[in-house]
Amino acid sequence: MADKDLTEYIRNIPDFPQPGIQFKDVTTLIGHPQAFAQVIDVLAERYHGRDIQAIVGVESRGFIFSAPLALRLGVSLVPVRKPGKLPAETYQVEYDLEYGSNKLEIHRDAFEHGGRVVIVDDLLATGGTIGAARTLVERAGASVEELAFVIELSFLGGRDRLAPTPVFSLVQY
Ligand code: AMP
Repeated sequence: MADKDLTEYIRNIPDFPQPGIQFKDVTTLIGHPQAFAQVIDVLAERYHGRDIQAIVGVESRGFIFSAPLALRLGVSLVPVRKPGKLPAETYQVEYDLEYGSNKLEIHRDAFEHGGRVVIVDDLLATGGTIGAARTLVERAGASVEELAFVIELSFLGGRDRLAPTPVFSLVQY
């Protein structure tokens, strides 16, 4: 039953990894089986019956939530990873961070038959990471049904930046 206030299970760490950032720590959430199960229950209920062919998980914390969701839905799990980790042919995208840039990769043959996918990460901040993942998924030939997060930092405006792709989150700050 979806009845727990998930904010009680998310730990706030001030000034991590740098001064001025309040880190939302989900290790305390996944450390509570009922809270973790509630997250997966809500997501599985939302995407069940929507003709989703794959769940895409974004390294690293996105893997924690995408894997049980894919299993529950009985669909493929596709990882989006940091450069140099995926062993077969990849597409790569570079995206800007506040300072510097990052890269992400996906296997070129991740979606042999196209299809509709949901991309999952733990947290939406500016939307740069998930926007890059969306670019990769589309390049690999799938279409993005929705972007799903446990936590959304609404004040950073990521959702608007990701329009028109729908965004879903369980907890908003
Ligand atoms: P962004 O690309 O700005 O949307 O940042 C999202 C990525 O950075 C996600 O993979 C998050 O895990 C991580 N992240 C950004 N801000 C925070 C935060 N305040 N607490 C925890 N993780 C964060």
